[in-house]
Amino acid sequence: MSEQKSRLAIIIPCFNEELVVKSTVETLLHVMDTIIFKGKITPDSYIYLVDDGSKDTTWSIIEELREKYGDRIKGTKFIRNYGNQKALIAGLSSVREIGCDCAVSIDADLQQDENAIETFIDEFHNGADIVSGIRNDRKTDSFFKKYTALCFYKLMNILGVKIPPNHSDFRLVSKRGLDILEKYNEEGLFLRGFFHELGLKTAYVHFNVKPRALGCSKYNFFSLTSLALNGITAFSIVPLRIIAACGVITMLGSFLLALEVLLEKYILHTTPSGWATLVILLAFFGGLQIFCLGIIGEYLGQIFNEVKARPRYIKDIELK
Ligand code: UDP
Ligand code: MG
Repeated sequence: MSEQKSRLAIIIPCFNEELVVKSTVETLLHVMDTIIFKGKITPDSYIYLVDDGSKDTTWSIIEELREKYGDRIKGTKFIRNYGNQKALIAGLSSVREIGCDCAVSIDADLQQDENAIETFIDEFHNGADIVSGIRNDRKTDSFFKKYTALCFYKLMNILGVKIPPNHSDFRLVSKRGLDILEKYNEEGLFLRGFFHELGLKTAYVHFNVKPRALGCSKYNFFSLTSLALNGITAFSIVPLRIIAACGVITMLGSFLLALEVLLEKYILHTTPSGWATLVILLAFFGGLQIFCLGIIGEYLGQIFNEVKARPRYIKDIELK
């Protein structure tokens, strides 16, 4: 028997997950029962489901589960779809309000290994404030997703955000971590970067990823790109500095070019040639300028969203 007992809250973001939500909840209740039996968590530990504006019957299944299992099942339904990050933030903030010693977030399709939760709790009892799940591999990801994710983590590292590769949103956060999160009101908070940057004591647990049992991935090319861009602009201003550096390099280059042209005209007395060079340079710098404007635009968009200070999400119903 363990001497330390904590109240655990498991957070599950759900978006159109009617095919899997019931079996996921039942599996997790079973996992919780085992950990309760071992004396590591208290019997009032619970599951908190965030229905991210599902269009299918996910919410009525959650209500049925509540009927069946009582207040071991809690949750909320968003008024519309806000995306997985907002659903996670809502879950973390709600379980803090309801009360818990630690919270674990896991996907509704249970692709992450639910048996690692016990190891998460052990690490928490050993003093970690954050326990991050790291995927052993990306075998279940499509070719496209595997390589874009790899590039994203490489890029983030280059930009100074040292997130370990194969990081996931399968993690444990202590009450202390939840309290700190509450102080951040950023609209575009990118949780993977956020918890990594806090500097709280972090433990890493490796887990195997399973293929999705039923249903399909809720991410597409556009939502993944948006998540990646959000992650970059929320955590690094290095791209803006690169633009400034490009400006300086271009300026130096143009001085050299000007020198060459002047030399040809006044000293060598030849007509400056180079129509092809001109066209290439024009096209190149035209493209570079629009690209740089695009990057600045991304930051501008981020500021635009932040200054409006709209609520991050709106809850339609909540089961406490
Ligand atoms: N999800 C969500 N809102 C969204 C998209 C996804 O809450 O707009 C949830 C989804 O129900 C699941 C988790 O986020 O619990 C991860 O989604 P998914 O399994 O589709 O992503 P993948 O495993 O393909 O990365
Ligand atoms: Mg999944």
